[in-house]
Amino acid sequence: MQARGLPDTPVALSEPESLFNELSGYLKPEDISQLKNAYLFSQSAHSGQFRKSGEPYISHPLAVTSILGRLHLDIQTLTAALLHDVMEDTHITKAEISERFGKSVADLVDGVSKLDKIEFQTRADAQAENFRKMLLAMSQDVRVVLIKLADRLHNMRTLAVLEHEKRRRIARETMEIYAPIAHRLGLNGVYQELQELSFRYIFPKRYQVLTKASKAARGNRREVVDKILNDIRQRLKDSGLEAKISGREKQLYSIYKKMVEKRLSFSEVLDIYGFRIIVNDIPACYLALGALHSLYKPIPGKFKDYIAIPKANGYQSLHNTLFGPYGTPIEIQIRTSQMHRISEAGVASHWLYKSHDINLDDLHTKTHQWLQGLLETLSDSTDSLEFLEHLKVDLFPGEVYVFTPQGRILTLPKESTAVDFAYAVHTDIGNRCMAVRINGENAPLRTKLRSGDYVEIITAPHAKPNPAWLAYVVTGKARSHIRHFLKTVQYDELAKLGERLLNQALSSLKIDPTSISDFQWQKLARDSGAKSKKELLADMVLGKHLPAVLSKRLLSPGNVASKANGMSEAITIMGTEGMAVQFSKCCRPIPGDLIVGFIKKDQGLVIHVRDCSVIGKMHGNPDNWLDVTWDKNISKLFEVSIKMVAENQRGVLAKVAAEIAKAGSNIDNVTVEGEGAYTAMHFILQVSNRSHLAQVMRGVRRIREIIRINREKS
Ligand code: MN
Repeated sequence: MQARGLPDTPVALSEPESLFNELSGYLKPEDISQLKNAYLFSQSAHSGQFRKSGEPYISHPLAVTSILGRLHLDIQTLTAALLHDVMEDTHITKAEISERFGKSVADLVDGVSKLDKIEFQTRADAQAENFRKMLLAMSQDVRVVLIKLADRLHNMRTLAVLEHEKRRRIARETMEIYAPIAHRLGLNGVYQELQELSFRYIFPKRYQVLTKASKAARGNRREVVDKILNDIRQRLKDSGLEAKISGREKQLYSIYKKMVEKRLSFSEVLDIYGFRIIVNDIPACYLALGALHSLYKPIPGKFKDYIAIPKANGYQSLHNTLFGPYGTPIEIQIRTSQMHRISEAGVASHWLYKSHDINLDDLHTKTHQWLQGLLETLSDSTDSLEFLEHLKVDLFPGEVYVFTPQGRILTLPKESTAVDFAYAVHTDIGNRCMAVRINGENAPLRTKLRSGDYVEIITAPHAKPNPAWLAYVVTGKARSHIRHFLKTVQYDELAKLGERLLNQALSSLKIDPTSISDFQWQKLARDSGAKSKKELLADMVLGKHLPAVLSKRLLSPGNVASKANGMSEAITIMGTEGMAVQFSKCCRPIPGDLIVGFIKKDQGLVIHVRDCSVIGKMHGNPDNWLDVTWDKNISKLFEVSIKMVAENQRGVLAKVAAEIAKAGSNIDNVTVEGEGAYTAMHFILQVSNRSHLAQVMRGVRRIREIIRINREKS
């Protein structure tokens, strides 16, 4: 089966004339003579060099030029294609090329040469560096990338002469790097051929088997295909629609991928027939769709309207799957001829169909914007690994690629957090993770990872999964391990706090907790529907029982031993109680604040500041309120909300961030609102206590543009 897209009649290499003849179809005579000059120049520069196949080296630049010629690329690109390896392989300099063929040709050749020059330390580096260079070049001139893709395509077509290991390596690189870029640029023909060739060399055996199988199947298919083609043709004709209809041969790689991904057998994949219908205009696309629905019933849930919502690379079509004759599924694509051209050539259609077509110009502009966006992100970071992020996100939406400290790449679903990463590395790492460093900086565990991040999980032997993680983890692995852990372990933690709560309640009743016998405990547990004292205490913390009520029930004559000191002692809070204690999001208490505790059903003890406006509105049993106080030795950081109003000037946010960092605090989150002269900024900062917060606020007040700063409680 041959790759669709670029026709690949080989260039008659002994006669470069045939290439020039072909190109004269769209180039001016003076362009052709420049190409001839470039050819002679390149030939003499490469003289004495040979390809692995034994052919003179010049055959390669000629073939690359021919590939680009079929996309009707401009004279500069074609000239540069003929010269693309001279700087690399010969003594020719950029200045020389510039003098003979002009600066833009020299820039293109230089761009391509630079892409080739990088040496890689590790596999991760190789990928990132490739991406980065590719994109760097791209953002300056997309034509550099087009030359590079054509170069790679020809090398892939002639890969058979290389030895086995080298073939595999190049094929993998093509599959991972070049094919996705071709796809992103909408060069469908190049994309499919690169994929097909890569597949062939990465999995030679599978490729062989599928080739045989598909040849064998082709005969049987013919009849079915012809029948469907005729039916469709007739139906569209009856509906008064002019259309070109063709059956689509599937690429071996796409068959293979479907078999693997959807776990289908070869014949199941092959039993899906693909047809393409090309009509004159957009209304005709929808009319044709309707006409086909009256011929074959659509399979529900398969319809995709890429006309209304084009893909990022500019692709437009209507897709649907229908129940064909004999129950075979039929995939149809309906598009206009212009959409068809874009779908085949993508960004190259700019040159291929030189017209002042609004859609083509629009596509070109969009691609340009995409490249510019990448260029901007690039200027922020000189590190190529960091850069990988933006790129891979674009090329492979739905996945993030991150690095372990060992340089291994992990693929995680989009929106994955540091906790997902920790569990992906190892269950024990997940269960023991307590902090994370992302790209060398400390970050909250819930931080969403971005492609290219270096993620280092810090574990501690005593660290445990936190139920709050369940609110943000996205991977099934993390979720199930956290759940499992909590189910088996959470009771210990809860019971410990429960004991403290109950002791406090008992003290306020002047009862010595140690005077209560095991028997009394067991009875109370049983009466309350718990299996043990531990479970009873845990249930209490989760709000099932009130400490005041339980302690009163323990009051029975003969068992009461009064404490010398009957004062009620406050429960001390350390911030390390884990899931048993939560700090309310409405007022975000920090050490130094006067606080109260509230036992909330199914949630445990929630801490508020005493003047929190939310608690004023809360009703309920006064027994739910607990006296709490901060422990004296707290080393943890707490979240606090700050609001600032600033004059709307450039760089204010950066100044604020710098002051916050200077005071040794971290920014957890920031939102900015308001337009016009003033901006309100809401920060969530991490501080150790009130005096730390005061220090942060003093620093921020020094910034001239800051008009007001205050802590937000509720
Ligand atoms: Mn080359």
